Amino acid sequence: MDKNVVMSGMRPTGRLHIGNMMGALTNWVKLQNEYDCFFVVVDWHALTTEYKNTQDIKENIRQMVIDWISVGLDPEKCNIFVQSQVKQHAELHLLLSMITPLSWLERCPTYKEQLKQLETREINTYGFLGYPVLMATDILIYKANKVPVGKDQEAHVELCREIARRFNYLYEPVFPEPEALYTEFMVLPGIDGRKMSKSYDNYIEISASPDVIREKVKMMITDPARIRKNDPGHPDVCNVFAFHTVFNEPAKVQELKEACQKGQIGCVECKKNLADLMVARMEPIHQKRKMLEQNPKIIDEILNTGAKNARVVAEKTLEEVRDAMKML
Ligand code: SF4
Repeated sequence: MDKNVVMSGMRPTGRLHIGNMMGALTNWVKLQNEYDCFFVVVDWHALTTEYKNTQDIKENIRQMVIDWISVGLDPEKCNIFVQSQVKQHAELHLLLSMITPLSWLERCPTYKEQLKQLETREINTYGFLGYPVLMATDILIYKANKVPVGKDQEAHVELCREIARRFNYLYEPVFPEPEALYTEFMVLPGIDGRKMSKSYDNYIEISASPDVIREKVKMMITDPARIRKNDPGHPDVCNVFAFHTVFNEPAKVQELKEACQKGQIGCVECKKNLADLMVARMEPIHQKRKMLEQNPKIIDEILNTGAKNARVVAEKTLEEVRDAMKML
């Protein structure tokens, strides 16, 4: 039976928010105990849209990896590294580019959509069109057979499977066809009720201080129909309640639901309770963060070791690829 290898990556966007923590990161922390995992900071991917703004990239990588480790990724259990430190990705990307028909990339649903969405960014480039090939490279180079994705990235995994099939058909069967690993990601709303996102400026950073957490919780939208403290509330439409379901104990969530519906608890008290819970939950994460910020060598070592281990696996795959393609 194939060894189960998981590969997943994030663009270096800097400090992550609590929505990232409760969604993808919590999932990664679970996966590291079940699979052989490669978690990569995909800095070359960032260049496909942000090639003009590279001034913060190093610091963004560092801050993001500090968040990864602080919330529980363990370098003893998984490989953590930066894509550009494993140059084998560039060689395999080039080789796979040779066999990938242009039409496969042009029909990629996210391609045209993003071209429209980001039309001010001049991303009509060779690199941007080819980024699904780079993504396929990141997966295939570790012979990953499981890729944790949301439904919106399904097309990329399918394209990766097609590229693997085409390579295996043209030369020799080198690559397993990866499968999407769908997980129920928790989608935490932002403080305004929309999806938590940096682009909406409605987020709470993992590294936010207790004061900032309390301030942001105060700003959260509650049930708009509730004017007075003893009006019956509708927790299902309340943003604060959504956070309680994540940060509070299930029995307490049920109690709160009933108290809100009966108008027995006010929103100010409810928000204060939530802020207390969040501050307490984030405390050990902040401690770890602080320690990592004070000892920058720890992150350097994690990334160096991760890249060293990744290079060994990547080079082994490339040797098979070069052999299959009859290259020198
Ligand atoms: Fe929301 Fe809590 Fe107010 Fe009910 S009491 S509406 S759950 S903030």
